[in-house]
Amino acid sequence: MRAQQIWRWIHRHGVTDFAAMTNIAKEQRSALTAGFVLQRPQIARRQESADGVIKWLSGFAPGVEAETVFIPDVGGGGGALCVSSQVGCTLNCSFCHTGTQALVRNLTAAEIVAQAQVARDDLGEWMAAGGERRLTNVVFMGMGEPLYNLDAVTSAIDVLADNEGMAISRRRITVSTAGVVPMLRSLGERTGAMLAVSLHATNDELRDQLVPLNRRYPLAELMAAVRAYPGLANSKRVTFEYVMLRGVNDSPAEARALVRLLAGIPAKINLIPFNPWPGSPYECSEPGTIEAFAAIVNRAGYASPIRTPRGRDILAACGQLRSESFKVRASARPRVDSAV
Ligand code: SAH
Repeated sequence: MRAQQIWRWIHRHGVTDFAAMTNIAKEQRSALTAGFVLQRPQIARRQESADGVIKWLSGFAPGVEAETVFIPDVGGGGGALCVSSQVGCTLNCSFCHTGTQALVRNLTAAEIVAQAQVARDDLGEWMAAGGERRLTNVVFMGMGEPLYNLDAVTSAIDVLADNEGMAISRRRITVSTAGVVPMLRSLGERTGAMLAVSLHATNDELRDQLVPLNRRYPLAELMAAVRAYPGLANSKRVTFEYVMLRGVNDSPAEARALVRLLAGIPAKINLIPFNPWPGSPYECSEPGTIEAFAAIVNRAGYASPIRTPRGRDILAACGQLRSESFKVRASARPRVDSAV
């Protein structure tokens, strides 16, 4: 009973001080204060874009910073929080800004949940009734590859979805992966989350260049694993993300190849206009090219929304996230144990 009370204070009411837990005995509150912290990460930077997107840079520890983005009004009245699962990334996708930052470390479950807590603080909606909430969806589409940090991602989803806490339905939580094939089944079985796959190419030769992970898990294996994703159905479709790169992957022939690749999979295709970043080697496809591509996919019976770029002016759009954190080699760390 006590655990449930404390849980509610933290995850439903968002308190950051044990002293505020008024239905807990005073002595117990002091004991909790002495033994535990309820601290939020330090907000190193907060930016709001012209179109209402908010981006936070959270500092979890010295040199460990990650970005989180809130995108209001994504349809259906709610808004999506895009959380990071790692600081930096190991995948090096050639079109992604995060890929230019080496992996610093995995985030812990608490650090992933803290990103939602920061957003709720900022949006002032700890007390809001369900229907009035703006933060209704969570997408693991920030920095990092969630399937390389699946234990923490699973625990974080358990907390975010808990009915006694934030109660964000698992159907409103989407985990995006570049295609870590051996972890896909486990993701579905352990989290029940919606799956998004960053596809971006329809043949191995091109995908090897864009998403180097493809060299380890080529398209045939990836598509077989997606077909076997637990719970896949017309009511629970997989999302394929496809970034539109001018002259690289945006031809009508590729749209037709995409349709063949997806045959029989309950899917929707999210076409993402390429978001440029400082020094990026690609350009975004022309609007007409994207529309023609979408039309071909759409005629084949797949929803193919074109993702409107949001928050580009503050580098908060897909693939633009990055932090200045870098891994300090043990030998370069300041010595704190020097002899007195
Ligand atoms: N590593 C996971 C989670 C990141 S999700 C994954 O790859 O799915 C971020 C999404 O934005 C991915 O689909 C990624 O491929 C896409 N993306 C990366 N850089 C982009 C850019 N510059 N413009 C548009 N989309 C981009």
